[in-house]
Amino acid sequence: MQTQAKAKDTLDTLWVPVVFHLIASDSAGWLPAYRIGDQLRALNRDFRPARIQFYLPRFGPGGGPTCGVTWTLSPLAQHDWTYQEDTLKKLLYWPTDSFLNIWVVESMTLNTIGYARALGDTVGMPGMVLVTSVVGDQRDMQAPFDWGRTAVHEMGHVFSLYHPFEGGCVGTTPQTCASEGDEICDTPPQRNPTYGCPTPIPNTCTETPQDLPDPIHNLMGYVDDSCMYEFTSLQIDRMRAFLSTFGAALISPENAQARGRQALVSEDCAAITALSPSPEPSGFRVRRFPWGIAIEGEQNCGYRLYDVWGRLCHWSSSCEVPMEGLPAGIYLLQVGPHTAPRYMRFLWP
Ligand SMILES: [Zn+2]
Repeated sequence: MQTQAKAKDTLDTLWVPVVFHLIASDSAGWLPAYRIGDQLRALNRDFRPARIQFYLPRFGPGGGPTCGVTWTLSPLAQHDWTYQEDTLKKLLYWPTDSFLNIWVVESMTLNTIGYARALGDTVGMPGMVLVTSVVGDQRDMQAPFDWGRTAVHEMGHVFSLYHPFEGGCVGTTPQTCASEGDEICDTPPQRNPTYGCPTPIPNTCTETPQDLPDPIHNLMGYVDDSCMYEFTSLQIDRMRAFLSTFGAALISPENAQARGRQALVSEDCAAITALSPSPEPSGFRVRRFPWGIAIEGEQNCGYRLYDVWGRLCHWSSSCEVPMEGLPAGIYLLQVGPHTAPRYMRFLWP
């Protein structure tokens, strides 16, 4: 096992640019920016053993600046996936060979919290659809889907994985495990999905030569977010091979260059860096007051204020940015529309 671990260490990290399309029925429904940052970190946490990492692009489809998030108001935010998948995705998507699209809606029919299509799928557009309630990582989330693992699970599907209970108790022998069920030999088959986080771990199928318990902690199962945490070695191999083939353009150095990945120093900084694409003069001025700062020289201020962690602190269409109650530190002020944002960093107080 030592040699295998060593071999894995030499694998290149595959970098995947993701864009979150937030669809809401009204502007009160926007997911706060910090939940996107949390979700990105949760994806990177669980995909780190696979050497697959995700980042928010700094440059959008036309090369213009972006923070990797789009905002669209539409009644499609109440999503009936039984017939609206294509309509929703065509509402707004970025080219699928340059971006992995994640659509976020307010609700879905039949209590669905997420679904996915694999890269290279020709029936529908690749990517995933999630409900807002499962996007994030523990902060302001509700159990049991509160560790951002719905997105992780769906990303497994995007990279061609099936559920360990696919087909039930099939592929139970060394001769059949690679071609039946989930086609993965180091995930023992299970008869049905497992829910919650049961102890002792059930054993619903009989494998040969060794009968193993169900892989309930696998990220491709249905247990609570806090109960799932692993991809197996062969799942990782399959995802990397699939991504290298069907996502070749997505993970290419040319795309990384065009999307501005090189500026990211670590995944923990991804959200912040993506939110501050330009250190250049911003074209607006600010004046300090004891209560906060005022934006000057703008017709329509329309600002968003982020803290150093990329969390959205305030937003308003006014030109006054109240700082009362906010701790001392570095802040990032975004002024202007999302399509042409300008930025300024400042130290408060
Ligand atoms: Zn699934």
